[in-house]
Amino acid sequence: MKTALVSGGNKGIGYFICKQLAKTGEYKVYLAARDQERGLKAVNEINNEVGNKNTEFVSLDVSKDQSVDELIKKIHAKNKSEPIDVLINNAGIASKGSGFDQEMAKNTINVNYYGVRRLTDGLLKRKLIKQDGRIVVVSSQAGVIGSKDIPKLKPLLDVDNLSFEKIDSIAEGFIDAAADPSSVKEKGWQTNTYSTSKALVNAYIRVLSKDLNNITINACCPGWCRTDMGGENAVRTSEEGAEVAVWLATAPKDQIDGTGCFYYDNHKIKF
Ligand code: NDP
Repeated sequence: MKTALVSGGNKGIGYFICKQLAKTGEYKVYLAARDQERGLKAVNEINNEVGNKNTEFVSLDVSKDQSVDELIKKIHAKNKSEPIDVLINNAGIASKGSGFDQEMAKNTINVNYYGVRRLTDGLLKRKLIKQDGRIVVVSSQAGVIGSKDIPKLKPLLDVDNLSFEKIDSIAEGFIDAAADPSSVKEKGWQTNTYSTSKALVNAYIRVLSKDLNNITINACCPGWCRTDMGGENAVRTSEEGAEVAVWLATAPKDQIDGTGCFYYDNHKIKF
């Protein structure tokens, strides 16, 4: 049996990622979430509906170092020191409305960018992802900045000259600039924190992919889905939104063309 860890698995797209993985019958699924009550409820529903007991709840707040460390230790112990096959970074937040302030910038970057780094780097550092394993990041086309005129984010596209330190410094520069929301745009940033966070995480997977030999890492956009985040007018169900992440995690390697790429509906798109 293979093992998969899915962050933000208690609702929305993450819930269906867990369910679709469990349905294959080939995966032990660690459904990770902050909210334990909703997490346990989700696990019960999935196990009852799928008809196996392959899904298990684990507690995780990706915004906190301690929570990530505890989860990594727990997974290590539960998985009998074996590395996992699949990591799906799905947890994410987006503020409602068009407001913008430093607190919002800090929180969003902390979950959507640093949260992915904490969990992924933590597992990789301890060699807890198999050498031929898969890492998937549920990102968003909102993070596509190639055609946008945002001078401070442009270096994120220059992957050959990019490092983790440089991405972090761009993240910190954005948070600092957000202290004075009225001058953010004239300083060369955008005021969309969600888009910025996803541009940062997209750059991260591209840089990381160069360090990983056989582990495949890709980002995907699920499309606009009817979840708490996407709202009721969205055009896709969460179940449909989950499909691309599950495909990237499970499809035979020769069907997935590359690593460090960005996928929408099983085809590559530009950063
Ligand atoms: P939801 O708001 O429905 O679910 C978000 C999930 O992330 C929840 O399980 C939530 O758990 C979890 N989460 C949030 N913060 C944390 C944290 N600090 N630590 C651990 N888990 C956390 O959103 P979606 O299902 O719509 O979004 C899933 C992913 O898809 C996100 O990364 C989002 O950016 C991306 N996406 C969504 C789109 C859409 O239209 N819905 C479009 C494009 C991308 P909790 O219950 O604890 O809050």
